[in-house]
Amino acid sequence: MLINCQLLAGEKMEHLQEAHMGVEGSEIAYVGDGFVSGAEDLRDLLAVPGLVNAHTHIGDSFAKDACTGLRVHEAVGKNGRKWKLYETGGREEIIAAMRDSAIDMLSSGITAYADFREGGHEGLKDLRTATKDLPIRTVALGRDLGGRLEDCQGLGLNLYQIDQIPKDRKDLRDILIAVHAGEGACEVEAALKASPDIIVHYTTGTEEDIRKTTRKKISVVVCPRSNASLKAGFPPVRKLLDAGVNVALGTDNVMINSPDMWREMEFLYKASQLFEGLTPLEVFKAASINGGRAFRTNSGVLKKGRTADITFLDINAPNMRGCRDIHAGLVTRCHAGNVKKTMIEGRVIDKGLVHIY
Ligand SMILES: [Zn+2]
Repeated sequence: MLINCQLLAGEKMEHLQEAHMGVEGSEIAYVGDGFVSGAEDLRDLLAVPGLVNAHTHIGDSFAKDACTGLRVHEAVGKNGRKWKLYETGGREEIIAAMRDSAIDMLSSGITAYADFREGGHEGLKDLRTATKDLPIRTVALGRDLGGRLEDCQGLGLNLYQIDQIPKDRKDLRDILIAVHAGEGACEVEAALKASPDIIVHYTTGTEEDIRKTTRKKISVVVCPRSNASLKAGFPPVRKLLDAGVNVALGTDNVMINSPDMWREMEFLYKASQLFEGLTPLEVFKAASINGGRAFRTNSGVLKKGRTADITFLDINAPNMRGCRDIHAGLVTRCHAGNVKKTMIEGRVIDKGLVHIY
């Protein structure tokens, strides 16, 4: 497949106004400057890396806004309201709501998401049922699995569950270990001792924690809207990036937040200006390249050899027309309505088709 379009090229996401891109199988075969003959004409659209929602709990989708005003421990702690709601939620209702969120993400230009799935093997089975025949890529991270990890991509744990991390990980190189930590004091320090691949939240991470995180090459996923809603602070993203840490972005519990990466990006960008600010490009990379790196999706960069997970945006729509800084426009103005096509692993999903589901 050969396409003429505008695109954000490579790691620097340089805006090429006239470009072409070849896709073979599931991969980008080449990206070049200028339009070429014989290509599908998408020149009015901007191709950007598919967004990666690096932290969700779509299992919570059946109880949206059921925790308004609560603090972290009251909402999602060991005895939080979340678990009481799960006791009353019907299985079919939970599965249907998970499917709604997967469709919602797909419709908004998200091509992959990493989900912390509760409920052991049954919970993972329900996630598969909810998302079967949906082309969005699910990175399923389970817990309470009795050491059997064959039906997931890894573990997604709370800090009090880190004893579930296998002692010997030599033969488990493909398994991802992600841990919630940093919504309370000293949590990041405790998580670092277990050397996970990913730490989620990190709002209370210290300078010493950041040094150790860099040294251990651990990725950090931040969820600033969730942290603000639950009064858990703001993650030190500027310091993490300056220390060379891979920082990705996620929307966290659907109970608390919509799984909308456009809203998440705008919040992160603007809230960060109250501290030591981030640039729009840094924020967009956190929502794409960095999530792909953390969860090994081989996506997030439009260049040869990467998986063809691509979102095509109408940037001539009324909300974007006249934008003078494309990275800022993407982060602060763009929304699901601008998504006209999505490509996942080389397969084109038209917006209309998504809505048929
Ligand atoms: Zn979470």
